[in-house]
Amino acid sequence: MDAFDLLVIGAGSGGVRAARTAAALGARVAIAEQSRVGGTCVIRGCVPKKLLVTASRYRSEATDAIGFGWSFEARGHNWRVLRDGIAEEVCRLEQLYRKGLENAHVTILDETASVEGSGRVRLASGRSVRAENIIVATGALPSPLGIPGAEHCITSDDVFGLPALPPRIVIVGGGYIALEFAGIFKGLGADVTLLHRGAAVLRGFDADVQQGVAGAYLEQGIRIRFNTAVRSIEASPAGYCVTDHTGNRFDCDLVLNATGRLPNTMAAAGVLALNQGGAIVVDDRYATSVAGVYAIGDAIGQLNLTPVAIRQGQWLAESLFGTPRLCLPDFGLTPTAVFSTPELASVGLTEQQARATLADITVYRTSFRPMRASLAGSLERVMMKLVVDKHSDRVVGLHMLGRDAAEIVQMGAISLQRGITKREFDRTVALHPSVAEEFVTMSNHD
Ligand code: NDP
Repeated sequence: MDAFDLLVIGAGSGGVRAARTAAALGARVAIAEQSRVGGTCVIRGCVPKKLLVTASRYRSEATDAIGFGWSFEARGHNWRVLRDGIAEEVCRLEQLYRKGLENAHVTILDETASVEGSGRVRLASGRSVRAENIIVATGALPSPLGIPGAEHCITSDDVFGLPALPPRIVIVGGGYIALEFAGIFKGLGADVTLLHRGAAVLRGFDADVQQGVAGAYLEQGIRIRFNTAVRSIEASPAGYCVTDHTGNRFDCDLVLNATGRLPNTMAAAGVLALNQGGAIVVDDRYATSVAGVYAIGDAIGQLNLTPVAIRQGQWLAESLFGTPRLCLPDFGLTPTAVFSTPELASVGLTEQQARATLADITVYRTSFRPMRASLAGSLERVMMKLVVDKHSDRVVGLHMLGRDAAEIVQMGAISLQRGITKREFDRTVALHPSVAEEFVTMSNHD
């Protein structure tokens, strides 16, 4: 029977970071992966999605360029070139991840693994492996749509293998994946309808951002049906027909189920305690209900973001085999972006959260057409917002909807982490002409 100091189940972002960190600290480490090394982020999430987003934006870039004197011969988009290019890039990254693990002397076990109990992992081949410490980093899986005909849906995992881009697409959901893929499909030329059960998209984001992105999508011709519950999906000779709660029918060629992801806890089944949401229960050191077994990332269902899983994996490995180099961050100040078009990003409290938790706040907001929109003749707009605690003058929330929002908000997140005040924003000299300068020149408040 093999024996390791650490066995990680799941070679996604969090698992790989934990394995490599532990190995660098001298631990004997193995990592088990049933699919491809790299996990959701590299194989079927952040990385290939961002490449799709990039591809989808060239259409409007080309249209805008005409206003700047360029002319192009329109030849349309070739889905296969894009799909195959992305697949190649993902393979390259997967190999890099494997190499990184091998170079760190981590043993890669290419099979399904599950926790048997304290210090014991069972592999699909029947082999039992002993490990003093076990980390479950198995991520999340698409949430099934429990309605008749749900088997006709695809999920975002399947988009990267589509043989062609269908002309008419219905998306169910109103979260990160629904908004991102609506923008991607529209930009690549499809007719897109989004069916969302709620009254606003992107639950948990600032209301100005929610309304701004929905408005921009409607302007682009993406149909959004709010307060719409999907009742059934039928295959029809022409494709599929989606029926909602009022009997409205939506004909299409593809239905994308984007109704969330659930913690993947198969590796923990019957052994580790789960909470009501189906996530593995952990304490503040990521310890599960079984001694020597830990869990991180989407499997614990706290904040399903790659950088969060990476930080958890690194911190945990360092705590187990050394001393944490950095303390765990305040995850409440985790910046997040939705790669819709227009893009949006946020860090800290929304205006609504701030009003509910602070005695008094000031909200600074600006909305404008960026310089490039004038010559391009486009409808593009930017919305930027600072939420300030009136008592301490601290900036508690920073939100942006518009081009490069993710790049700009990442920088803003450093300031919020440091407890920056509005006065310090005001003291910062603007970088002109830029969009980001608006964050240091805001004086209009509600
Ligand atoms: P989200 O939780 O963001 O959104 C799920 C959406 O589906 C919500 O609009 C929700 O509505 C709706 N929904 C849930 N259940 C049902 C149902 N039974 N019927 C109809 N609608 C339903 O999940 P995603 O799948 O978009 O993304 C999963 C996670 O992955 C995200 O939470 C995010 O953490 C991560 N992610 C991050 C990205 C990034 O960083 N850019 C990109 C993609 C994903 P309601 O609001 O009413 O609950």
